Amino acid sequence: MAAAHTEPHAPVLQGLWESVRAAHEEVLLSSYLPASYGFLLHVLLSAPFLALDALCGVSRRVRSWRIASGSGSQPSPRRWMECFRRLLCRYLTTVLPATAVIQSLRTAALPELAPSCWQLFVEVSACLLLFDTVYFIWHLSMHRGTQVIQYVTSIKLEGALLSAQTKERVCWLYRNIHQLHHEHRVPFALAAQDSSAFELLSLLLLAQGSAWLVGCHPLSEAFFHLINSWLAVEDHCGYDLPLALHKLLPCLGGARYHQAHHNFHSGNYAPYFTHWDHLFGTYRAS
Ligand SMILES: [Zn+2]
Ligand SMILES: [Zn+2]
Repeated sequence: MAAAHTEPHAPVLQGLWESVRAAHEEVLLSSYLPASYGFLLHVLLSAPFLALDALCGVSRRVRSWRIASGSGSQPSPRRWMECFRRLLCRYLTTVLPATAVIQSLRTAALPELAPSCWQLFVEVSACLLLFDTVYFIWHLSMHRGTQVIQYVTSIKLEGALLSAQTKERVCWLYRNIHQLHHEHRVPFALAAQDSSAFELLSLLLLAQGSAWLVGCHPLSEAFFHLINSWLAVEDHCGYDLPLALHKLLPCLGGARYHQAHHNFHSGNYAPYFTHWDHLFGTYRAS
């Protein structure tokens, strides 16, 4: 193992990968890792926004970053705590056991070599693009029922018989899976994962499936989940921060883009990038 450090072409990340493997091999191979990592990442990345919400009451500068200023106040600590309890409950009762069963069916093995920096960059980028695409399709499907009804209503089809049974079918995905997430008209960081247990599970499986399809190295997969969680938190945080990622990478939608989706209940279906919404005509300026 020590020889790998002295290899002239050993990847830059080899030392990091070896120390993580040596210290936490059992954890890395645990069936409970995906759900535990997802939950902990989300809570830790959301925590700074709890402080920002507290500062909002005393700092004019922080208030000026708030997107919802004028239409909604920052969430109270009690709302944060209630949201935390709901998330913990859904993870413990659904997400953790379900992902543990799925994970135990996979043959777990840790590679000896770390990925090169370039490989890590390509794999993480491919995962983000793939996840963005499959989530866009899934999210659009969950809203489609609502859109059909809005369409029928808007063209005022007099006499059109939209039977109770048809209504039931077209709205089912939205009402039973996604509607809970839309109870936050003005979202906040922790509420990024405040969805039904089934939706929460589906998002984790889509993220894991994306990494599996790309054939990610475990280190790349860990980085992908980290960036994925951060982007979800930033999208829901309620602040248009001066150093937000979408200001550095204009291909990202950012918090205003996703908040428009929460405000209008339609448009901006992709989680991070805006190209699918532009292509399908579902982009909604925020
Ligand atoms: Zn939605
Ligand atoms: Zn959302």
